[in-house]
Amino acid sequence: MVGMNYLNSVLDATDIPPEEEYDYIVVGGGTAGCPLAATLSSNYSVLLLERGGLPDAYPNVLPIERLLVNVYEANDRHSPAQPFTSEDGMPSVRGRVLGGSSMINFGLYLRADDDFYAKSGIKWDMDVVKKVYEWVEESVVFGTNKLTTWESSFRDALLESNIGPDNGFTLDHVVGAKVTGSTFDGTGRRHGAVELLNKANPGNLRVIVNATVERLEFSAFES
Ligand SMILES: Cc1cc2nc3c(=O)[nH]c(=O)nc-3n(C[C@H](O)[C@H](O)[C@H](O)COP(=O)(O)OP(=O)(O)OC[C@H]3O[C@@H](n4cnc5c(N)ncnc54)[C@H](O)[C@@H]3O)c2cc1C
Repeated sequence: MVGMNYLNSVLDATDIPPEEEYDYIVVGGGTAGCPLAATLSSNYSVLLLERGGLPDAYPNVLPIERLLVNVYEANDRHSPAQPFTSEDGMPSVRGRVLGGSSMINFGLYLRADDDFYAKSGIKWDMDVVKKVYEWVEESVVFGTNKLTTWESSFRDALLESNIGPDNGFTLDHVVGAKVTGSTFDGTGRRHGAVELLNKANPGNLRVIVNATVERLEFSAFES
């Protein structure tokens, strides 16, 4: 089971109260939507709408042994992975479950590279960025320098092919061979963005699952 505190904030779409008001409505409880909703809830009331269900509702989402089953069995109906074709014609899948694609992906975790910050056009406060990484990592990122036989053979093969240096274990996006973080823990259970909802202010957060947003209506009003 993933950490479950957030469940106190969750309702099914069939139980939505007829009318409520929120400061923010976040559409999509995925990798970005969950931490966004959790962060906003510290100061504002937030409604998070997710078209998929809870991770535990799908037998293939949490165990590492079932990792690829989500991808192979993706369908257009209710699977936690939804097949789609990218704009350049590549068949792929995307998450349809609370936690989004972080609940069906391969769990590889590393921090962004320096080039990403440089090209983003954003003036980053790197002290804040570091705190945000730590906020995520303390909940859902695991790592060890203990490698299985095939992993160390693969690392050695990279080094023998001059793909170095050997950076050991690091979450940083560095050139060469490295061992990085994983969102699967040592027992092979997946952790993902859904657990960042545990960091929300529960009094300010409502999460509704199985709630597909079909349209947004905007109306101008005078303040
Ligand atoms: C098979 C696979 C393996 C991957 N492996 C890795 C990896 O190892 N490491 C890595 O860093 N990245 C990996 N990725 C990429 C990474 O998972 C994604 O880039 C990331 O999760 C996308 O985050 P997101 O918040 O943009 O979207 P998502 O996490 O997909 O979130 C979007 C959410 O919005 C919901 N939604 C969409 N439309 C609606 C609607 N109309 N109403 C309500 N809800 C809606 C969806 O159900 C979903 O939960 C992988 C991706 C895939 C598919």
